[in-house]
Amino acid sequence: MSKFDYDLFVIGAGSGGVRASRVAASHGARVAVAEEHRVGGTCVIRGCVPKKLLVYGAHFAEDIHDARQFGWDVPDCRFDWTRLRDNVLAEVSRLEGLYAQTLDNHKVALFRTRATLVGPQKVRLADGQELTSERILIATGGWPFVPEFPGSEHAITSNEVFHLQELPKRIVIAGGGYIANEFAGIFNEFGSKVTIVNRGDAILRGYDEQIRDRLLQISMTKGIEFRFNAPFQSIEKQADGSLLVHLENCEPIPADAVLAATGRVPNTRGLGLEEVGVELDRNGAVKVDETNQSSLESIYAVGDVTNRIQLTPVAIREGQAFADSVFGGKPTIVDYSNVPSAVFSHPPIGAVGMTEAEARNRLGSIRVYTSDFRAMKNVLAGRNERALYKMVVNEATDQVVGLHMIGPDAPEILQAAAVAVKAGLTKADFDATVALHPSMAEELVLMK
Ligand code: NDP
Repeated sequence: MSKFDYDLFVIGAGSGGVRASRVAASHGARVAVAEEHRVGGTCVIRGCVPKKLLVYGAHFAEDIHDARQFGWDVPDCRFDWTRLRDNVLAEVSRLEGLYAQTLDNHKVALFRTRATLVGPQKVRLADGQELTSERILIATGGWPFVPEFPGSEHAITSNEVFHLQELPKRIVIAGGGYIANEFAGIFNEFGSKVTIVNRGDAILRGYDEQIRDRLLQISMTKGIEFRFNAPFQSIEKQADGSLLVHLENCEPIPADAVLAATGRVPNTRGLGLEEVGVELDRNGAVKVDETNQSSLESIYAVGDVTNRIQLTPVAIREGQAFADSVFGGKPTIVDYSNVPSAVFSHPPIGAVGMTEAEARNRLGSIRVYTSDFRAMKNVLAGRNERALYKMVVNEATDQVVGLHMIGPDAPEILQAAAVAVKAGLTKADFDATVALHPSMAEELVLMK
């Protein structure tokens, strides 16, 4: 008999925590998980899933418009934000139920409450109950970061944006990253006046420059406004309830809502980590080694709380690797090379591997191929919006070391192509594959 209440206690039932819990349980561990918000975490409840549904909803604006060129007699349509919002929230609740069901099916005990650490092998629940566990996994994810300035309390974050009572006629979005560009596309398609305000002069740092430039150019053509090098000074609430956003170097912007999309920080505050001796980095992330173990032997961490790569599939990999290694007798180290990523902007971006600039710095001699084209559908629709695919090749080995795409369905195409990049295939391998015509993806094997 173990002297502990559990073999594993997981704090946080998001993507990483749920995966680790159920896999550990399937390996025979006695597992409990505590979740203070809703089961499913950021991705399911207030991130990837509801966002993607809004992206689908938004895209109908263009589809309905373009349908006329394809012979459909479409009357003028009205968009009902509350109907989409409620349908999306209902879907989120359905998925939350499925996640809880998964835990239940694997006999994982679920505590719907906050848990904090009181010892290397002991947690305390919000009602004061203390439980012991041989190992503890921190999987508490991240939390939106909002810079402090006068009136910053008037800004909403991605936590609240899915619940808006009404569609803002004018929205100012702070930040130029994933969330800013995705929601700019969403609100713009719904008919809001969107202004992205960035402290620097570039959007989507980390993505290939040409692809970022293309998104900027298309976004501006679609009517999204940008202010660069314009840090927020204040948000002033007006007598009529609207907001006035004051910026450095720019005229103030009137708005009905301000969305802060200025990054996410590890959710470690108040968890008792440092008190029991777990080392955090200067951003508050749990420091872990490649086996996801913290500075304390009994405490591990996976997902956004470790601030490695803030992506759901990465957290899931880490949760799986942790559970397989510790409870399944199958030591697994997560491979972080060539992790594909996407921005669900309008149009979306997909990328894997090195950007052109990274490859030049790291490899020296490279070849770059691009295909700059208008998707067939856009041509007939009269939509002057060009896709751009870019392939970065190592001159010495002919290996494709980077693929970067912006255009319709780019993430769907990129996911399949990422297999080839991950496998280390060469430009010659791509060229040897016969094109599938007519498709957009065929550009990948036709680049000259
Ligand atoms: P990002 O890191 O993508 O972008 C943050 C933006 O905020 C950058 O433009 C950054 O500017 C700016 N910023 C940072 N700090 C400040 C500050 N103090 N004042 C003003 N501006 C600031 O973060 P997001 O919030 O968009 O998303 C959070 C994370 O969630 C992402 O990193 C991503 O990992 C994940 N995510 C992934 C998605 C996907 O996979 N499709 C979708 C949504 C989120 P600068 O460039 O100058 O640093």
